[in-house]
Amino acid sequence: MSAPPQFDLLIVGSGPSGSHAAMEASASGRKVALLEIGYSDDQPPKFDQSKTFSEIRRTDPDQQAYFLGENPVTVLRNQGRAGPHLTPDRQYMIRNMDQLFPLESDSFLPLQSSGLGGLGVSWGANCFALEDYELERIGISAAGMPGFYASAAGEAGISGRTDDALTPLIANLDHGLIQPPLPLDSNAETILRRYQAREDRYKSSGLYLGQSLLAVLSQNLGDRQANPQTDMDFWGDPGKSVYRPRYTIEKLKASPNFTHLIGRLALRFRSGPDGVTLECRNLETGAPEAFSARKLLLAAGAINSGRLALASSRDYQSRLPILCNPNHWVAAVNLAMLGKPARDRRHSLSQLTVLMRAECDGPDYVLAQIYSYRSLLLFRLLKDIPLPPKQGLLFLRLLATAFTCVNIHFPDRPSTDRWIQLEARDSGDVLRASTSYSAAEKAWIQRHEGRLLRFLVGLRCIPMGVNKPLHGASIHYAGTLPYSPEDRPYTTAPDGRLHHAANVYVADGASWRFMPAKGLTLTLMANARRVAAQALQHLAAEDAAAS
Ligand SMILES: Cc1cc2nc3c(=O)[nH]c(=O)nc-3n(C[C@H](O)[C@H](O)[C@H](O)COP(=O)(O)OP(=O)(O)OC[C@H]3O[C@@H](n4cnc5c(N)ncnc54)[C@H](O)[C@@H]3O)c2cc1C
Repeated sequence: MSAPPQFDLLIVGSGPSGSHAAMEASASGRKVALLEIGYSDDQPPKFDQSKTFSEIRRTDPDQQAYFLGENPVTVLRNQGRAGPHLTPDRQYMIRNMDQLFPLESDSFLPLQSSGLGGLGVSWGANCFALEDYELERIGISAAGMPGFYASAAGEAGISGRTDDALTPLIANLDHGLIQPPLPLDSNAETILRRYQAREDRYKSSGLYLGQSLLAVLSQNLGDRQANPQTDMDFWGDPGKSVYRPRYTIEKLKASPNFTHLIGRLALRFRSGPDGVTLECRNLETGAPEAFSARKLLLAAGAINSGRLALASSRDYQSRLPILCNPNHWVAAVNLAMLGKPARDRRHSLSQLTVLMRAECDGPDYVLAQIYSYRSLLLFRLLKDIPLPPKQGLLFLRLLATAFTCVNIHFPDRPSTDRWIQLEARDSGDVLRASTSYSAAEKAWIQRHEGRLLRFLVGLRCIPMGVNKPLHGASIHYAGTLPYSPEDRPYTTAPDGRLHHAANVYVADGASWRFMPAKGLTLTLMANARRVAAQALQHLAAEDAAAS
């Protein structure tokens, strides 16, 4: 590299990982740039943010515009990929996904975000601080992580309980940082009461249930407001109460040492002893561009950081592992709520979290998030109800306040049966992916699901059906460039450096060598900060050696 690099640190991606890495790096005063595609939807809110979901349903004559969107067919088709959470106004999050990130597979259907804030544009905000043994299993040294969890949680703003059955499982998060919980809704209250009546018995058999820890404010924080409990959280971001990575990017843009390189697709990197050059395409002009930095941090999401590593070596032979939580949805009826009214004021996100101890090559959990389904609109579930549409809608209306959705996540580990590989085509490179589970793995999932369903029945939540979406629908991805103490290609050193690519670091979940069932994103933010801090330390050491 002849000219001095333009930046000290260049980060690819503005999701939870990239935005938190950028914040950690920028606080050092170093020259930091964040490069991304960054599609956004700068439209003013389409609904009255002070009104509750039920008021809006009763009174707004224009509600079709945001509940159905301009193109309901496309919206419902995309719903198949992301679950019902991807509401019309958030569809920009995957704009041009198939052109920007071509991926072919008949067994793996992931979401790859082109939005400002990555998949964080619509994430469900469920947070977990992992236990030491889980971090070690992933490949992250637990020492030092509480500090990075604290910075990540301080930025995101987290609320929840610090005195229920789940509390011992979030010991790595300073409880002083957690805002008081928002009130539970009526449905969740009855389920929790039932659990608490036999809490000791459940806990001794490894079943923990408590209020979900969420990156949602219950008290104002900076320019963000406490959740208004209007049950419109899937349709907009009232008061910015649910954390979105774009709030972090907005703050960073005020820093003189931060450069936002938006509208660029990173194609490949060339690394050397003095720094890294990142080749990109300017998405507005179509022109090739290149940026140089002393250190490059990959935070393009696990799939695309893996893709970038393969493309940079023009490697069409190697297969990289891919981790993704297998994920099932259960539709259940809470008998305690049958025919009972429910309070109107509520937030829309997960109410309760179940953690069930399990063994998956070592101790882990199976996770279930419990939602009281209302504001996502019942018609969106119709295609998953085994009844003709008319009867299906009647059935859902009758059950309304008792209707409960349970989202189950199973842990995942690497296997030669689950991989991604780059393929050269005349039209450009395409990522191929294949994911299959052995009979023993499927039996493991089945057995643990059975135990969880029996637990639900014990809580008088009766499962009506289990929906098993195509693999990828959990939208939790990791593991393409796994941590390894050995210096092997396509692996990451414990300090975050990508082996065989000088000055390149992996700041997202690509480096994880195990995928716990617990939601990964708070840990992604904390680990991205840890990796950025390591890169800064290496820069400081190089400067000291040169002077
Ligand atoms: C509906 C939904 C609900 C979810 N709920 C939860 C939850 O409750 N709890 C939880 O823990 N997790 C949840 N998740 C998952 C969570 O959103 C992801 O784990 C998280 O966003 C991953 O962060 P990341 O920054 O590593 O990657 P991403 O969010 O994927 O961000 C990657 C970024 O890199 C950019 N990028 C990629 N390739 C390139 C390239 N070549 N050039 C330039 N830029 C590039 C992308 O545009 C994006 O900005 C949910 C996700 C969705 C969609």
